[in-house]
Amino acid sequence: MPIKLPSFRPRRDAYPPDLWTKCPSCGEMLFNKQLDKVLRVCPSCGHHFRLSAQMRLDLLLDHGTFAERDGGLESEDPLGFVDQKTYPDRLAAAKLATGMRDAAVWGTGGIDGRPVAICVMDFGFMGGSMGAVVGEKVTRAAEHALAERLPLIVVSASGGARMQEGTLSLMQLAKTVAALERLRAAGVPFISILTDPTTGGVFASYAVLGDVNVAEPNALIGFAGARVAAGTIAQELPDGFQRSEFLFDHGFLDRVVHRSELRGEVIGLLRYLVPRSRDASEPDTGEPLALPNFRPFSFLSNLAERVLPSDAEGSAPENGNGTGPATPAAAPAPTPARDATPTPQGTAETPRG
Ligand SMILES: [Zn+2]
Repeated sequence: MPIKLPSFRPRRDAYPPDLWTKCPSCGEMLFNKQLDKVLRVCPSCGHHFRLSAQMRLDLLLDHGTFAERDGGLESEDPLGFVDQKTYPDRLAAAKLATGMRDAAVWGTGGIDGRPVAICVMDFGFMGGSMGAVVGEKVTRAAEHALAERLPLIVVSASGGARMQEGTLSLMQLAKTVAALERLRAAGVPFISILTDPTTGGVFASYAVLGDVNVAEPNALIGFAGARVAAGTIAQELPDGFQRSEFLFDHGFLDRVVHRSELRGEVIGLLRYLVPRSRDASEPDTGEPLALPNFRPFSFLSNLAERVLPSDAEGSAPENGNGTGPATPAAAPAPTPARDATPTPQGTAETPRG
């Protein structure tokens, strides 16, 4: 006669996930309804849980003032991308899980009675990844802010560019930065709010370009993962070097603000950061809000000139990819046209007259 083993219910069923949440920081079991009341911040240790886009809008904006724009924008599948699932399947699952069409919403609303343009990301939708739709929404929010002279607020929560859209995702970096650059030149303020996590292509583009960059406590903020970053520079990096507090201590952020004070902080900032009116604006004279003469593109090309080895310094060492002995005779001769101009243009100015 076979022995019948008693069947136990799996332990995780004892806490239905829609009823309780376990704090990953202190391990406390938190009742979800209670957690929502305290803005999803752990009452015992202060851990900030991620917020959905809707909750974030409710937190920041005056009640009932949000008017969504371009809500119908949806991603296509330009590459026919398939990993374990097809990209359209992943999109459909994310839409079902979040009720959103993509990982960002943008629109207009009021904060303490002041109108703003706001774009909010949702990490729940495919890790908040930035494809063409997210980039377009951030850009349109910036363009609307520019046209209407409204302060722009972008709340980031993203793992970076969306690999399923390949280089189209990477193009969003240039597009969003270009729109923000026009906003900056016109003297219209941009407040960037960085939440857990803000990484990859979002960190590398609009998230850190705010006139004021505000972060929530202990948010993961950085470009690459900690192991990749440490491996790239072949150095040990200090604990928590990609957390809000560390970045604040080292001057990369302007504020680290507890979620319960975030709305008040933004209200305070909006009192100071008033969009320059269109009549008073003269072409490219005043630099009221940002570093003087800072231009992202010229900054990047200057950086490249300094970092990349120049021809004058002789041949750069090959990075370990040459297996056999070097054959200098086979190497192409340096082009004389480059040698004719040894100093990179724009670095030295020779006054005339
Ligand atoms: Zn906790």
